[in-house]
Amino acid sequence: MVDIQSASQMTSWLVAGQTLFLTIHLLGVLCFAYIVAKRLVPLIRGQRDFRFDQPLIRLGRVLKFWLGQWKQPRYRLAGTLHIFIFAGFLLLAVRAFSVLIVGVSQNFVMPGLAGRAGPAYNIITDYAATIVFLCMVIAIIRRLIFKPARYAVPARYGKAHTADAIFLLSLIAILMMADSLFAAAKAAAQSQPGQSVETLAAFSLPWMLQRALVSASLPTLGTLYFGAYLVHELTFYFLLCYRPFGIQFHVETSLFNIYFAKLDREILKPVRYGVSDEHLDQVKSFGVKTFEDFTWKHMLDFYSCADCGRCSDNCPANAVGRPLSPRFITIKARDYSFQHYPVIGRAHNGTPLVGSKDSGSIYSADEIWSCTTCGACEEECPLLVEYIDKIVDLRRGMVDDGNVPQSLQKPLKALESRGNPYGKMEKKKADWANAKEFQQTCPVKTLGKSNGANTLYFVDSITSYDDRMQSIGRATAKILNHVGENFGILGAAERDSGHEVRRFGEETLFMTLRDHNVEAIRTSGVRRIVTADPHAFNALKHDYKDVPPVEHISQVIAREVKAGKIKFSPVENENSVYAYHDPCYLGRHNQIYDDPRDVLDAIPGLKRVEMKRCRDRSFCCGGGGLMLFYEPKEDQRMGVKRVQMAAEAGANVMVTACPFCMVNIEDAIKVAGLEGKMTAIDLTELVDQQIAREGPDLKFGLKKEEQAAESKECVVTSSNAQ
Ligand code: SF4
Ligand code: SF4
Repeated sequence: MVDIQSASQMTSWLVAGQTLFLTIHLLGVLCFAYIVAKRLVPLIRGQRDFRFDQPLIRLGRVLKFWLGQWKQPRYRLAGTLHIFIFAGFLLLAVRAFSVLIVGVSQNFVMPGLAGRAGPAYNIITDYAATIVFLCMVIAIIRRLIFKPARYAVPARYGKAHTADAIFLLSLIAILMMADSLFAAAKAAAQSQPGQSVETLAAFSLPWMLQRALVSASLPTLGTLYFGAYLVHELTFYFLLCYRPFGIQFHVETSLFNIYFAKLDREILKPVRYGVSDEHLDQVKSFGVKTFEDFTWKHMLDFYSCADCGRCSDNCPANAVGRPLSPRFITIKARDYSFQHYPVIGRAHNGTPLVGSKDSGSIYSADEIWSCTTCGACEEECPLLVEYIDKIVDLRRGMVDDGNVPQSLQKPLKALESRGNPYGKMEKKKADWANAKEFQQTCPVKTLGKSNGANTLYFVDSITSYDDRMQSIGRATAKILNHVGENFGILGAAERDSGHEVRRFGEETLFMTLRDHNVEAIRTSGVRRIVTADPHAFNALKHDYKDVPPVEHISQVIAREVKAGKIKFSPVENENSVYAYHDPCYLGRHNQIYDDPRDVLDAIPGLKRVEMKRCRDRSFCCGGGGLMLFYEPKEDQRMGVKRVQMAAEAGANVMVTACPFCMVNIEDAIKVAGLEGKMTAIDLTELVDQQIAREGPDLKFGLKKEEQAAESKECVVTSSNAQ
């Protein structure tokens, strides 16, 4: 019998194959281990981050987001390609390992693959190698010819990453080709007379190569076999050791990044893990100022980013030309880490991360203030990279250094002295509810020792003090009244929820506001809290501790509609087409998408359309809270883009469920020149307007005029009382 020698038996450049490949293995593994050890240096020096709890939940998330590639299909073509590549890699892992060992031990067979399973596995992996190869070719063509916009690198962020991406894709293609050629040459040699032929998967890459080689001489096949094996080995180890220098490092880190991803994403990270609020005064420096102030997990995020650009593609700040692109928050930090923690040489940290480029800083202050903490980036990232905590931590560092934008200093001082960003007097906080005429129609009690209630309506600053938003307060009160809720407000005892203050990075001021409110809520003796402000809702639900359960008014309305306590009159204007805008802190941060829609759909005759970007892909209106006082550099307002999206969807009424959204959207309608063509209304206002109130003619539509008059009366009389 004539056959080609196995790779380990061959001799090349006077070196026996076995020795050559053993040397390559050892060098490759040692080199990789050394590089990874160096990459771990900053992580070891980084801040604590407790991510070791709830192992089963974490494993479940690994199954969903890593093995199941859950988020990939959100981008159909790229996602499908990635799923094929990922599945191909997983299938090929055992084959690659076996191939490596064959170089030093010619008869090695992977345990479990000795019997019939072996040929079956080989057929599957023949197809896997073919699919991965084809995916690489498609990905290269996509990068070179179609050039998806989200891969572009704006000039201010440096050079395009195309060459690096093509290089890596080509290496994987070469690896697949070498693997296939190796199998094909062996099978072609076996197909010489007298040999038992190894079956290759029909129409796979190895099968096609084998057919092309079938008439080649044995020496030629032997050379091809050995050459393909050598190329496979060298490419494999080169890739292994090259990946930790760029975007492909995610191949190694993604599993860990997903396992250690934050479980309670809506809860903001503490100033320092392991330091309680009571001991915060002992922390010398707040937030992130230099690289080692990031937590080890945040550094792992930097390594794990695949540079896919999905975060920035969905970032509203990036879309309107603010100087922020989340992808580059990560890429710049990764580049910083590679430079300052080199593989060869000593680590050197200490450069302030935020500041001027000339001084070596990587972020500008505007970049960090531009974020609205909307969460679109985190929602989109297939590798669960976190952004909000990092951005808030960078802000904490700036606030700690007194580096606060001029326009935000006044509202912050007002929050300190008066408990609201407008600097208005506490005693005026309940004016919207205390007007005599309004109290007659919709009694709202201010809770006190002798004035208790079951439910607290937490109003928060903007609805209490802003003339336009007070209408949301009155509508909410009327709805609660209508369903017979025993409720009250805190009035002067209520301070700003501190939601935005915390996200702004002013942790100690937030704690003061929170502690005051917690005390007032506990003293009031209420058993539950309702609010119409998603920011207050998020703060009470996630930032506060030991307060009664909290609900957003849309949840209350949806429940009461289902229970039959709220019935609606049909909408009057048949030409009205409604689009619901998901507020970030109701939707993405708290997954309340259906309740507001269910309420709208329960209104007879209401025509509703969805904007292209809706639900978890909703587009932020421009940032609530303190962002109302901040004038970022931008080409266009986010709100303007948002109302244009509603117009494109065919809507002429935008419904939202957040006072901050209302400010931005109403303003944007004017700026976009859509006045008269588009209006905005809060869900509570719409519900209040459409409620079929009790009376003899409660059937839909019969008391509409009376209801409209009643609704108007409440608004007008109370406004007059301001
Ligand atoms: S939270 Fe929103 S604004 Fe901030 S970086 Fe992410 S997507 Fe952009
Ligand atoms: S952070 Fe996530 S979404 Fe953004 S570029 Fe990296 S991998 Fe893609």
